[in-house]
Amino acid sequence: MANYKTKLHKIKAFVFDVDGVLTDGMVQVSENGDLLRTYNSKDGLAIREAVESGYPIAIITGGSSETIKVRFTILGVKESDIYLRSRVKTPDFEHFCKKYNLQPDEVLFMGDDLPDIAPMRVCGLPCCPADAVPDVKAVAEYISIRNGGDGCVRDIIEQVMKVQGKWDTSAPPASSF
Ligand SMILES: [Mg+2]
Repeated sequence: MANYKTKLHKIKAFVFDVDGVLTDGMVQVSENGDLLRTYNSKDGLAIREAVESGYPIAIITGGSSETIKVRFTILGVKESDIYLRSRVKTPDFEHFCKKYNLQPDEVLFMGDDLPDIAPMRVCGLPCCPADAVPDVKAVAEYISIRNGGDGCVRDIIEQVMKVQGKWDTSAPPASSF
């Protein structure tokens, strides 16, 4: 993992999986069939900071719940950059790169499970939470010290923005959750 720090400098955009990255992977099913996820407000603040600093952010998930869109559009992520029902993630990753004129090696991808491996192989900096599955850890160049849903997204956004001189502790976002 020693090499990943040099790669932090060239990252221009972020892509995150949802379940097991932005959540701890647990999904509650309500009686009427709604799926309920719990998100971390520290991740939320970092996403808002990144958006306000001009980093494009995509969410690519196999999940289909519209509440995923609610959660991330509130933080400033564009609705068109939230890819739900993504069964094969690499085409969605490439679509996002093209849309913002990004080379894949300028984009960080954080995932935790098997559908994330293919896009992790083509992105610039493949990352995962501490509790990712072993096959994902094997392809990650950075394994966060934090688990999914416990600040792993905050951890990596903060590292990128700090090395790029963009993490401004004096002017935090006005609101986030
Ligand atoms: Mg996942």
